[in-house]
Amino acid sequence: MAVPKRRTSKTRKNKRRTHFKLSVPGMVECSNCGELKLSHRVCKNCGSYKGEEVISK
Ligand SMILES: [Zn+2]
Repeated sequence: MAVPKRRTSKTRKNKRRTHFKLSVPGMVECSNCGELKLSHRVCKNCGSYKGEEVISK
């Protein structure tokens, strides 16, 4: 098995990790209440999807 010749420097490691994103992809703002929600899913906060109330409270 191939073994790295040199250990990865802090700089190189940190540069690689700049591509790590904080937010989960597929999160969009709800058009109804503005909360972050998963796209193509009913909003957890207000229960709306595509501007229609789906879940009644
Ligand atoms: Zn909402």
